[in-house]
Amino acid sequence: MSTSSDKLPFLPFALPEIGDEEIAEVVDTLRSGWVTTGPKAKRFEQAFAEFLGEPQIECIAVNSATAGLHLALEALGLGPGDEVITTTHTFTATAEVVRYLGADVVLVDIDPATMNIALDQIEAAITPRTKAIIPVHYAGLAVDMLALLDIARKHGLKVVEDAAHALPTTLEKELIGTLGSNATVFSFYANKTMTTGEGGMLVTRDPALAQRARVMRLHGINRDAFDRFTAKVPSWYYEIVAPGFKYNLTDIAAALGLHQLKRLPAFQARREQIAARYFEAFADLPLILPPRAPNEDVHSWHLYVLRLSNAATVTRDEFIERMFALGIGCSVHYVPLHQHPYWKERYGLTAEMFPESQKAYERLASIPIYSAMSDADVDRVISAVRRTFGAA
Ligand SMILES: *Cc1c(COP(=O)(O)O)cnc(C)c1O
Repeated sequence: MSTSSDKLPFLPFALPEIGDEEIAEVVDTLRSGWVTTGPKAKRFEQAFAEFLGEPQIECIAVNSATAGLHLALEALGLGPGDEVITTTHTFTATAEVVRYLGADVVLVDIDPATMNIALDQIEAAITPRTKAIIPVHYAGLAVDMLALLDIARKHGLKVVEDAAHALPTTLEKELIGTLGSNATVFSFYANKTMTTGEGGMLVTRDPALAQRARVMRLHGINRDAFDRFTAKVPSWYYEIVAPGFKYNLTDIAAALGLHQLKRLPAFQARREQIAARYFEAFADLPLILPPRAPNEDVHSWHLYVLRLSNAATVTRDEFIERMFALGIGCSVHYVPLHQHPYWKERYGLTAEMFPESQKAYERLASIPIYSAMSDADVDRVISAVRRTFGAA
């Protein structure tokens, strides 16, 4: 069978939306002679703080969210013998940073209603070694941070939010990043809600954490030491106070970020529109549609994740295959950590330990949702999903 829609170009699962302003800013950076970390990275940090509505909050631009998570945990003093609790239903970056520091990961199942970490299972995972919790705002829906911060306070634990999906997500009208955890980390990877190609932002209100992260972001060079003595010390002099990392964001990337950030509210509004169309179009299909943000809160709609219900007559793999055959890219978020050889073997994990994440994994698929999609693209996705279920 061949229809005109079969001849349309393949619609990728994700695409960035890069405009003339971003391109002009990158060109300006290239012509300026200053291509790595410099004035634009600094401006991007300030603009990000202003976006969060808190000009004084510390924003540290880094070359990935993974780097930001690593820096936050390092600054909190995490090390061998320590444990960190997080969700099994996430990307490996959330957990691998714990292992970078020689500490161990304790995985918790999800709440099937939100797909976020099961708050009522966190306390059972706490041991005398537990130092921190890393909540992940899955797909762009906020974790109930008020409840999570209560648990953390009660047990004296640090909290670092993996907000790779959660820009701009709100909880009780407050943006993620401003909720009172020790640190929050955003990602500007190519498929996230805004992009710098590769990049991330570490946000904290803790000046000591910020100071340590800034030093460790660039080789352990202590800037304060030489800022204080600039007048007396020659410009070539610097001091290394720790074996730091190479995690700085370039001005080329920051040039993209400055304009992506300005356009973020429009990007989010477009994603919201697409989500609304999906909710309406799929209501009668054998699907569990994704949870919406409660009340007036903002869901960033980084991902729109469908789950096949018991009534579905196709498997997840068949669903994705049929969507590809109809020219639509889909993805799976995620193959849970407990399924991956490394995590499974290191901690002796089985699927039975995480029944909700496992069940979700077996039935879920993410469909395209991004601001660069045209109305015709959205129509194509809707019609492909419906055809996949044999519905008109
Ligand atoms: C993308 C992602 C990361 C890593 O972000 P990078 O900027 O690519 O390092 C971490 N956690 C989650 C949940 C992600 O989706």
